[in-house]
Amino acid sequence: MLRAIDGFHQDEVGDWVAELRCGHGQHVRHRPPFWVREWVLTPEGRAGKVGVELPCILCDRFELPAGHVPYKRTRDFDQLSIPDGLRKDHSTKPGVWGVIHVLAGRLRYIVEPPLACERLLEPGVPGIVVPEVLHRVVPEGEVRFFVEFYRASTEPA
Ligand SMILES: [Zn+2]
Repeated sequence: MLRAIDGFHQDEVGDWVAELRCGHGQHVRHRPPFWVREWVLTPEGRAGKVGVELPCILCDRFELPAGHVPYKRTRDFDQLSIPDGLRKDHSTKPGVWGVIHVLAGRLRYIVEPPLACERLLEPGVPGIVVPEVLHRVVPEGEVRFFVEFYRASTEPA
């Protein structure tokens, strides 16, 4: 799925990495003739690319970004106490990831486009919530679960 560029940093060998709004990084190397991105070499060139969207394969794979840490969790819910908000399509804020942990039973996890998929969660099979992607859950009989939220560890509390 497409993600906007928030900024840039250099990796340990000096190659430029675009910081995407989802929390993932993506190399944007200038290495002609294979990759031609002369713009990445100047501050003006990089500034001109902030806000531009790049396809993020890591979001497509539901991969929690490295360096994200849990900062809060919901209480435990069961099939009767699930808030309506979780049964209807909803999404987390930019940069906020979630992990749905099922403690007992099974929970159907439905993700809308652009990631469109459906998974059956159970103990040991968590569901990863990708920022800004609409999703909902449906209990499959009796279930007990909670949601843990993750964000970049450098963000202020
Ligand atoms: Zn991403």
